[in-house]
Amino acid sequence: MKILDGKVCADSLVADIAKKVTEYADSGLRKPHMTVILVGEHPPSESYVKAKIVSCENADFESSLIRFPEVIKERELLARIEEINNDPTTDGLIVQLPLPRHINQQSVINAISPEKDIDGFHPANFGRMTLGQKAFRPATAYGICKLLQFYNIPIKGKHCVVIGRSNIVGKPISIMLSNDFDIGNATVTLTHIETPRKLLLDETRRADIIIVAVGIPGFVTPDMVKKGVVLIDVGINRLESGKLVGDVAFDEVAQKCSWITPVPGGVGRMTVAALMINTLMAYQNNFNLA
Ligand code: NAP
Repeated sequence: MKILDGKVCADSLVADIAKKVTEYADSGLRKPHMTVILVGEHPPSESYVKAKIVSCENADFESSLIRFPEVIKERELLARIEEINNDPTTDGLIVQLPLPRHINQQSVINAISPEKDIDGFHPANFGRMTLGQKAFRPATAYGICKLLQFYNIPIKGKHCVVIGRSNIVGKPISIMLSNDFDIGNATVTLTHIETPRKLLLDETRRADIIIVAVGIPGFVTPDMVKKGVVLIDVGINRLESGKLVGDVAFDEVAQKCSWITPVPGGVGRMTVAALMINTLMAYQNNFNLA
């Protein structure tokens, strides 16, 4: 069993980005700039935002963190997003999810300019990605692809099973791996809560690659996988003890895997790295550099 180390891969990608930023700065251009909006006080969101800001420092990007209280009205948030959409000094904009219940998440996602939507959640980007056109790819799914590529894991022609169909992880990764992309051309089965248990087991037991994003600790057990499987654990679950675990019973399942991601230190690091790649792309688009 070998570890798909998200930290090693993310550090390498961010170091390459920082080199590019130096080249652009040497030619007199400003640095790429990511703006993050954080609403309310949600401890996991605080740590995700912190990781993004630290990664911006490592990539030599500018970053801005805009905080709003939990009680902010939706229209005030939308007005601020509109201002940032029109600000030429910001290349990429993230509104950290989840948002308070009184704010419509989809309205907020739709309000972000597709040109600054580095999370890749806007319907325009999601649609273009689905059609195989140039787009910001949803960051977690893109991060998983870059991790598989970094470790030279074959994808083309492989049988891949995705567990979970959320708009931010399961759905986009199933589309991306099945598309005719440079990191793609797999045969993908997407499973979800209505997938009968027997069918789920039939699929996972013959899968070459499993990607699990359900948010249930220990969901994937050794009896569900074949020997030699590549296992990507997207889950981030905090146990009562405070320990962070994924969706895989790691100690038992790892022995059967050829490759597996740890939690933490796996996909989470790659999500942030993919945001850096997308921000650089937004910047290059702004300056016609690509
Ligand atoms: P989500 O929106 O809650 O979606 C979970 C998905 O799992 C849903 O599609 C649900 O099906 C499916 N599901 C639930 N129980 C299932 C079962 N018993 N069998 C099969 N499918 C089942 O979650 P998410 O946003 O995708 O996140 C999933 C996990 O990944 C969470 O732990 C989250 O914290 C983590 N995450 C990590 C990163 C990262 O960067 N590492 C990024 C995003 C999320 P239905 O659609 O039918 O309800």
